[in-house]
Amino acid sequence: MTDPEGRTTVIDPGTTASPPSADRTFQPSAEFAANANLTAEAPNLLIIGPQGAGKGTQAILLAERLNIPHISTGDVFRANAQARTQLGLECQRYMDAGELVPDSLTTNMVAHRLAKPDTKDGFLLDGFPRTVPQAGALDDLLGGQRRLTAVLVLLTPNHVVLQRMSIRGRRDDTLEAIQRRLDLYHCETTPLLERYSRLLVAVDGVGTVHDVHERIWTALAAFLRDRPNSLTNAEAVGGINQPMNDECDNCGPGHPPR
Ligand code: AMP
Repeated sequence: MTDPEGRTTVIDPGTTASPPSADRTFQPSAEFAANANLTAEAPNLLIIGPQGAGKGTQAILLAERLNIPHISTGDVFRANAQARTQLGLECQRYMDAGELVPDSLTTNMVAHRLAKPDTKDGFLLDGFPRTVPQAGALDDLLGGQRRLTAVLVLLTPNHVVLQRMSIRGRRDDTLEAIQRRLDLYHCETTPLLERYSRLLVAVDGVGTVHDVHERIWTALAAFLRDRPNSLTNAEAVGGINQPMNDECDNCGPGHPPR
């Protein structure tokens, strides 16, 4: 699918579902702003967690409450697969197998989304970065102008994740794909927790949607209140840029092309 000028169209569920108003600026609630000392800086947030941790649900709630765009790479890939765009056709087979879509496709798509003006007052990235090279690419995309504010991680034990996955019923929820995504999460994504250790807000993901949301809200406000304001992006991410699990037994030879 191409636009009238022949460029490849990328379906963006975030902007098609709820177009941001042109004059939207970050307006935290008074209670949140007072607690979190947030008036000076728009929140540029990441949310990380294994499949089935409730990350997508929590990301939607948090982004809505903070009035910032929720950018889910999985949602964008699924919308493109459904609309059979070129991006969708390319990413479908990776998604069905539980593999990661190659970094080049993923980071291009995120670059395109973060260039939109509605992200200038903050954003919540859900499902990106998922690998250390993607995190390096995000540093480049943010450049000197923007810095990450906090990185939320939902801690959810494997047995809870597997139980939730068994009732989710998504097209890519085959047993093999579920196992593969869990392996990839542990091998490729968990090194990010060390990389972002200075920005990490870890929250217990077990409980009702409401309880987990309130936990996230309280933990984030507390973190932001105490976050050292002088921390630059480079200092915050600790300079870890190399994949740490090259020889991983679980996902070694099956790594997607980078
Ligand atoms: P999710 O909705 O976050 O579970 O993502 C669904 C699928 O989209 C994943 O299993 C991957 O195939 C693909 N995907 C989403 N985000 C990324 C990413 N950051 N890097 C590579 N693949 C991704």
